[in-house]
Amino acid sequence: MDLSPTLKLAIDLIRRQSVTPDDAGCQELMMSRLAPLGFAGENLRFGETDNLWARKGSEGPVLAFAGHTDVVPTGPEKNWAHPPFDPVIRDGYLYGRGAADMKGSLAAFVTACERFVAKNPEHRGSIALLITSDEEGPAQDGTVKVVDTLEKRNEKIDWCLIGEPSSTHQVGDIIKNGRRGSLHGYLTVQGVQGHVAYPHLAENPVHLAAPALDALANEFWDNGNDFFPPTTFQITKIEAGTGSNVIPGELLVHFNFRYCTENTAESLEERVVAILDRHKLKYDLQWHLSGRPFLTDRGALVTATQNAIRRVTGRETELSTSGGTSDGRFIAPTGAQVVELGPLNATIHKVDECVKAEDLDTLSEIYEQVLVELLG
Ligand SMILES: [Zn+2]
Repeated sequence: MDLSPTLKLAIDLIRRQSVTPDDAGCQELMMSRLAPLGFAGENLRFGETDNLWARKGSEGPVLAFAGHTDVVPTGPEKNWAHPPFDPVIRDGYLYGRGAADMKGSLAAFVTACERFVAKNPEHRGSIALLITSDEEGPAQDGTVKVVDTLEKRNEKIDWCLIGEPSSTHQVGDIIKNGRRGSLHGYLTVQGVQGHVAYPHLAENPVHLAAPALDALANEFWDNGNDFFPPTTFQITKIEAGTGSNVIPGELLVHFNFRYCTENTAESLEERVVAILDRHKLKYDLQWHLSGRPFLTDRGALVTATQNAIRRVTGRETELSTSGGTSDGRFIAPTGAQVVELGPLNATIHKVDECVKAEDLDTLSEIYEQVLVELLG
């Protein structure tokens, strides 16, 4: 079969078994294609994680494509119709771990650069790639450290296109222009352990905490806004009890906020503390902020991306901030505009992960048109 350059490169990338944090030579392969175009590549290795910062040009504005070469584990390979690291195209679909998340996007962006640079050797500004091998894991030695390094040198990204699989039914139908924040709370309510037959000698933390948990569950946090749904609070775990005739001595509660830009982590923490204090609980409360919300309002990058999608597919694109967090949470705080555009996300992290083969060619054309819009 005569495969397009994008599909050939996607297949070569999927063959490399780059389970987090192993890059398995993917970044080197990408660099071997980018160097002849005039990109200068820099390997930024932190801990076990390989990161690539590649840039063509020294002037601003900087359009960076961000993504990851690492993939999630396959699970038992016997459950796959085809070996996950031996990609095949069947019935028009490319199968393999990382086909959709997100080696297909990496290939599409590299080939978009090849065509764009060939047609526009004197383009304005700079094209850059920020690639990590630690997006699916702890994400501590990946994008966050590269962004730190760039900030220290005062190297700025103006526009960042992330290749995460954003599309739902057709490629380009949805792009993400922000993500909600995620804040975890770990609450321990103290009581006094005792015999159930002598409750006057004990203090039941379940009974003490129940009205406060009810108040938290029914609190109105905010209304959301034009870009975000309302903030939600969910209890994820409750634990107490030592035996059938024992009043427990403490109660553990884990909860999570998915929050929008109408609140901050600080405002939510204050409001939770106020509710707990109002119920006169004795407690310990720990917080873990896994990502602040970010938002790229309509502007040059959103417009360029929507125009590019329309030009290639005729499609009108919907903006969305749904889904989990992404590495955009590290890039957006630098002031960069951030948009996520990638293939369909129906099979990501699943067995028999796949992507429609022609979608990768479409995606590559869209990326090329974004380059034309912003740097052509
Ligand atoms: Zn991904």
